[in-house]
Amino acid sequence: MEKHQAEQEMDALRKELEDYGYHYYVLDAPIVPDSEYDKLLNRLLELEGQFPELITEDSPTVRIGGEPLSAFKKVAHRVPMMSLGNAFSAQDLRDFDRRVRQNVGDEVAYVCELKFDGLAVSLTYEEGRFVRGATRGDGTTGEDITHNLKTIPAIPLRLKENVMLEVRGEAYMPKHSFETLNAAKEEAGEEKFANPRNAAAGSLRQLDPKIAAKRNLSLFVYSIGELTGKNMDTHYKGLMYLDELGFKVNKEATRCESMDDVIAYTERWVEKRHELPYEIDGVVIKVDSLAMHERLGFTAKFPRWATAYKFPAEEVVTVLREIELNVGRTGVVTPTALLDPVLVAGTTVRRASLHNEDLIREKDVKLGDTVVVKKAGDIIPEVVSVLTEKRTGDEVDFAMPTHCPECDSQLERLEGEVALRCLNPKCPAQIREGLIHFVSRNAMNIDGLGEKVISQLFAHELIADVADLYSLKREDLLELERMGEKSVDNLLTAIAVSKENSLERLLFGLGIRFVGAKAARTLAEQFETMEALQEASEEDLLAVNEIGEKMAASIVAYYAKPEVRTLLAELRSAGVSMEFKGKQPRESEQVDSFFTGKTVVLTGKLSELTRNEAQERIEALGGTVTGSVSKKTDLVVAGEDAGSKQKKAETLGIELWNEAKFIEELEKA
Ligand code: NAD
Repeated sequence: MEKHQAEQEMDALRKELEDYGYHYYVLDAPIVPDSEYDKLLNRLLELEGQFPELITEDSPTVRIGGEPLSAFKKVAHRVPMMSLGNAFSAQDLRDFDRRVRQNVGDEVAYVCELKFDGLAVSLTYEEGRFVRGATRGDGTTGEDITHNLKTIPAIPLRLKENVMLEVRGEAYMPKHSFETLNAAKEEAGEEKFANPRNAAAGSLRQLDPKIAAKRNLSLFVYSIGELTGKNMDTHYKGLMYLDELGFKVNKEATRCESMDDVIAYTERWVEKRHELPYEIDGVVIKVDSLAMHERLGFTAKFPRWATAYKFPAEEVVTVLREIELNVGRTGVVTPTALLDPVLVAGTTVRRASLHNEDLIREKDVKLGDTVVVKKAGDIIPEVVSVLTEKRTGDEVDFAMPTHCPECDSQLERLEGEVALRCLNPKCPAQIREGLIHFVSRNAMNIDGLGEKVISQLFAHELIADVADLYSLKREDLLELERMGEKSVDNLLTAIAVSKENSLERLLFGLGIRFVGAKAARTLAEQFETMEALQEASEEDLLAVNEIGEKMAASIVAYYAKPEVRTLLAELRSAGVSMEFKGKQPRESEQVDSFFTGKTVVLTGKLSELTRNEAQERIEALGGTVTGSVSKKTDLVVAGEDAGSKQKKAETLGIELWNEAKFIEELEKA
């Protein structure tokens, strides 16, 4: 690249980064995802590496944070509050390790800590009393926010020892507080916060401490800035000392003897992060020995003895090219965005959900738009927003069709629904999707019958409904693409085996509206045979715990259809079992535990079990786990940082256990 070209690009990058930085650091309202900011910053770093003579003094690559707001008193940091270097891969971490070893030799131990996504603050204590709290600001000067920090219960106002101390930490807003706050903002018609980080920063940079007090903030401390009268030789011991003084120190901080252990730690948290009650965006890795910190020193922007490993981005920017329409099993037409391929949370994403027409309109999505796409945990990728400032004028409006893209019948919007539906029961798309559902794992669980095979069978007119699966012939199957003798035999066996399934699988597979896997199980347990369920009235159904009015009405309406009666008769004559095969042995063994027949709600973070494990244990003991607390709840188990559910349980007088009690009872049971 020519120098003048580089100069132009660098200039444009700096302007863009400064603008994004201003929205992020000063206004607490970012306009692009972090991944986009990091991408541009890395590009600028790359160009500055090639043309060092073009580095400016105030480049975003050397500047820390943002200017302090003039509304606050300024605080000069006696020890600068630096930023952190970044690592985006295991290779980056190994490079960091190599640089450290080159300087201090091979005997290096690291401390891994979670990288909390909040606002860096400095807390000063004199004689053990909290006297001042400040934001990081530009690293040398911050804003005095003592009045707001005093409202955070996790910040001790008095320490257990009368020391002079300056300590650094991250103020954050727990996920549940963020959700409650944004729900209230939405109700009041106010602008919502983009994420918990900005909500925390916005709450602390308020002049009125009453606002911060209401925001339910918390804080983890993670390093000592200055400490008089005490000598510490490692960072880890420093953390333990902070814990003894009465601070909230995160329990996941771990000392690692090797870079392999560090990398294993980062990998563990990529998925596990979603189980935490607060947000993290990476892992911070620090050399443990403080003598080594001295030897390694700092660059202009960050220490050489620490780095931040950033998780694969969950929010990225890409271009939306087309909108595809899919007709689901229940006739709902869903728009899906077709995107320029992009890496999100470590996987390449080409499609993302747009949910429904209302959302397309609300978000003002046009073909050709630059959009933010998000994929977190197991969640399907979705289009979050449009970056309207990136529009060129070539974008094209999108209109939802009036007719079904598969069968051309008129689409309808049922009252109270946002979705458009195809109401034609013979619509091929609905039938095909219904078949895919019928054979799926939680339904009839027919191995070897994936989406592709079903589509082929359907296209070859070998099946028209689920009963036809049971009369498939060997020779027909052999005609299909990529179906050898062996796969055909396996498939025929799997189909034959599925005839013996217990009733709940068939019930779920039939796809009766509102009947999910759990309700299907309850119905099978209560009615035991298809005939009994078929004869049940709405009152009979309503008498069953967990079956509400909507579901009862839907079940009765389903069995009243003549085509359903025909279908069931066909399945029966094909030899498909219509009986409940009894509780699984594991469940019948445990009749008499505390949990039997109880409805339990899990909230907050459990440290000994994951949510899923806890749920499995309760269910294995005959209990049911539900998501929200109501009068029907028998027990609430509250882990760390439990919020509104715990409060609701207290208000309703529902039995409330902490994790220790829960584990004790599980063991007894
Ligand atoms: P950083 O977030 O990469 O790392 C430094 C910060 O990590 C510290 O100041 C501290 O607050 C925090 N931290 C959390 N846990 C820690 C722990 N256990 N130990 C030590 N520190 C811990 O650096 P930065 O300079 O604050 O900001 C850069 C970040 O801000 C990037 O992620 C960038 O994407 C984002 N950003 C985004 C935009 C945007 O427009 N979206 C704009 C500017 C910056």
